[in-house]
Amino acid sequence: MIIEFLGGCRQIGREAFLVKDKKTNVLLEYGVELQPNIQIPLLPTVKLDGIFVTHAHLDHSGMVPLIYKIQNPNLYTTPATLDLMNLLLEDYIKVAKLTRGFGEYTKHDLIKMNKYFRPHPYNQKFRVGNLHAEFFDASHIPGSASVFLDGSKKILYTGDINTVETNLLSYKEINYPRVDCLITESTYSEREHPDRKLEEKRLIKKVLEYEHGTVLLPTFAVGRAQEILMTLYTNGIKENIYLDGMAQKAADLILYHKNYVKDALTLKKVLKHVNFVRTRKQRDRIVREGGIVVTTSGMLNGGPILHYLKKVRDNKNACLFITGFQAPGTPGEKLLRTGYFENDENKFKVNLEIQKFDFSGHAGRKELFDLIEKISPKKVICVHGDHTPKFAKEIEKKLNIESLAPDVGDSVEV
Ligand SMILES: [Zn+2]
Repeated sequence: MIIEFLGGCRQIGREAFLVKDKKTNVLLEYGVELQPNIQIPLLPTVKLDGIFVTHAHLDHSGMVPLIYKIQNPNLYTTPATLDLMNLLLEDYIKVAKLTRGFGEYTKHDLIKMNKYFRPHPYNQKFRVGNLHAEFFDASHIPGSASVFLDGSKKILYTGDINTVETNLLSYKEINYPRVDCLITESTYSEREHPDRKLEEKRLIKKVLEYEHGTVLLPTFAVGRAQEILMTLYTNGIKENIYLDGMAQKAADLILYHKNYVKDALTLKKVLKHVNFVRTRKQRDRIVREGGIVVTTSGMLNGGPILHYLKKVRDNKNACLFITGFQAPGTPGEKLLRTGYFENDENKFKVNLEIQKFDFSGHAGRKELFDLIEKISPKKVICVHGDHTPKFAKEIEKKLNIESLAPDVGDSVEV
């Protein structure tokens, strides 16, 4: 079995790994790097029997339609992932047209991709060419999966994975099969998460401090926005909450795929309480009268957040609470560092209380080591991280398992 690394190895973004075994070629992910510049993976140079997508986030799915310009492999993912993926990919096409005048693919390629969709739930084996495959719940966002491939060797690819329960997603211990090779994400290989419950309490306390003001909560549209809404609601904050941007459609889709969330009934109640913002007038009223605004984009590089921020930047009754990872070079990361909002068109000082909270959907350092130890593969391949060579060395030392951190363009025989 050969694994070719087409992208997303020593970075977080443009994930793409080609697995060749028993005359069958499958692609694990085909993502895009968005920040600071668009980067796409290397093109696979073989005929593909299938593409597996672990979850909807664009760093894993963003370039899948590009493959359908060239060939027609089946697309294997969960039904929730396909719907959420379509939402993000349609937006990607729109934004590419607006900002660059062209995109790497068109709506036509997206429609074609959908024709080859082969849905599979968790924990059921299915055949792809001469390989067997199975999805396991990865508890990262609704619909997210790890992929097990059984051929001449057995490999497990974690995708983005979380191993603790959150307000949106449940976590159950998984009895993984024995594997020869584990390809693991490494996002938090260098960092531990703070205690989630304490972090929640800290957020709730802060939100209550601005009860009569404006609380801005920029979030990622898929997963995080709904997690924050659930967190507010289950901690007794139920009124005066607004949801803006793409997170609205994502919330509807997540509720539609209710089997993928921990408590669909509560999510339904939450979404009934939340006010969906549809017009500019509504936004202006919220700025005047106050409210808790959950809106895109998570790293402040687009979406309605900029509209709110411009209006309340000097309001002492307003605050900005960031709840997700801020990639270097993004307006969110710069704002945290300098106190200034800055993009191509704007630069202004933000005179608000700014706080950052950790509501990550990824396993932290300890959880990653625990997971690797539990699976106990013969070999570990570290991907999707900024420090994968260091992480591989640490795994070898701590767990005595052969570990690698390949770079883009490398291939590894398993
Ligand atoms: Zn992700």
